[in-house]
Amino acid sequence: MYTTVQVHDKHFIPYLSEAVIQEKIGELAAQINTEYAGKRPLFLAILNGSFMFAADLFKQITIDAEISFIKLASYKGTKSTGQVLTAIGLDIDLHNRHVIIVEDIIDTGKTLHSFLPQLHHQQPASVALAILLHKPEATEYPLHIDYCCFSIPNKFVVGYGLDYDGLGRNFKEIYQLQG
Ligand code: 5GP
Ligand code: MG
Repeated sequence: MYTTVQVHDKHFIPYLSEAVIQEKIGELAAQINTEYAGKRPLFLAILNGSFMFAADLFKQITIDAEISFIKLASYKGTKSTGQVLTAIGLDIDLHNRHVIIVEDIIDTGKTLHSFLPQLHHQQPASVALAILLHKPEATEYPLHIDYCCFSIPNKFVVGYGLDYDGLGRNFKEIYQLQG
């Protein structure tokens, strides 16, 4: 049943149903299938949040394509570099590859904004962003989003890979914080 859920201490209300999510992913995949035919794109999914979206999207890809998974970890750099992001598990040479980053949500945009320059160092042929959710009102760091499933208001969501303090990733639907 698709009703209000409790995760830890908070209540969440139904926001995006399984059918709505899957339909949108189908549309996105169709677009990618057309635009990347013959290019053998490399999907680079950012863990943990994007695992479900990446799996469902990739299942709808009918052209030759590869997928790999990375984790972004931040550590303190020097004073001038501040927080630095490092990609764990990035073991594929991106040179001349058509890369499609798969991410669950863009909130402030800080994560991807700091990570993308590192990708460009490897001189990929192209880099595109495929994002499940985007919160335009919260975005502080400009990013060009090529494929986006849903633009949502600036409210906390869980489910379909996204967690609240570790829980809720297993929901097939997306829920929004009540209130
Ligand atoms: P950004 O760097 O764009 O500000 O943040 C991206 C990360 O913040 C996401 O990958 C996600 O882990 C977390 N995040 C931002 N908004 C939400 C939300 O509404 N729900 C959940 N579960 N995580 C969020
Ligand atoms: Mg994430």
